[in-house]
Amino acid sequence: MEENEGVPKVEFKKYELKPLPYTLDALEPYISKDLLDIHYNGHHKGYVTGANNLLTRYEKVIKGDEGSYDLQGIIRPLVFNVNGNKLHTMFWNNMAPTGKGGSKPGGKLADLIDRQYGSFEKFRKAFTDVANSLLGTGWTILYYDKETENLNISTVENHFMNHIAEMPVLLIVDEFEHAYYLQYKNKRVDFITAWWNLVNWDDAENRLRKL
Ligand code: MN
Repeated sequence: MEENEGVPKVEFKKYELKPLPYTLDALEPYISKDLLDIHYNGHHKGYVTGANNLLTRYEKVIKGDEGSYDLQGIIRPLVFNVNGNKLHTMFWNNMAPTGKGGSKPGGKLADLIDRQYGSFEKFRKAFTDVANSLLGTGWTILYYDKETENLNISTVENHFMNHIAEMPVLLIVDEFEHAYYLQYKNKRVDFITAWWNLVNWDDAENRLRKL
């Protein structure tokens, strides 16, 4: 075994902004090109940069290069920015270009929705009611409990998850003001109504089938 007298290798791998799965104008008229541009190239990119900057700081702490530090001052914003990156990547893939999304789910997702909520229309109302009840900034999510096969609806405050371990998220909608204000002003309810036209049910179904 080779002796290595040097400092142990420390490397925190960084994130990259994943490409959008469609062009910037693909979601019009429901999400305008300008709105998607600022949301993706401004906000989403900002979370990737923020996550990487915090990982660099954390790396310095582990190496002992950071003179004084506040770990909670690193970890909490790190979670905020990493989740910001991951939630947005999921959100983009959870939507399909205009004309290719919306409508209703099929397959296992449809069966689970019908069993638990009675009909897709009742499920959509339940999800919309939760989305409209969100206080301030966050997301509404649909997540899956493999143990009961229930589909649960919850909200996420900021980027801090409010769901349960081992229960993956299948469907999400961003309700930060930056997600709609440029186009919908204070009419968040209108943005949610428009968003249903973009839902990529195949993506949600694929997330369910991968489990
Ligand atoms: Mn956002």
